[in-house]
Amino acid sequence: MGPGVPIKCPTCRKAGFWMEKPLGPFCSERCKLVDLGKWLGGEHRISSRLQAEDLDFFPIDGTPVEPGAERGGE
Ligand SMILES: [Zn+2]
Repeated sequence: MGPGVPIKCPTCRKAGFWMEKPLGPFCSERCKLVDLGKWLGGEHRISSRLQAEDLDFFPIDGTPVEPGAERGGE
């Protein structure tokens, strides 16, 4: 393999061959820690799929809500 393709550090956007380094894709330990801090602070979201409406189908008490069930009583 050659020198590879330079990438941008996710934190400071500095271009370099960071993936070839132990800290890749970050250019430095500092940038790695900064990114980790973002995760812990909630700036990044692993998934936004878990919404309040999703929870309605999986109530904590374990009772399943069937489609149309809440209409009953005509
Ligand atoms: Zn950086």
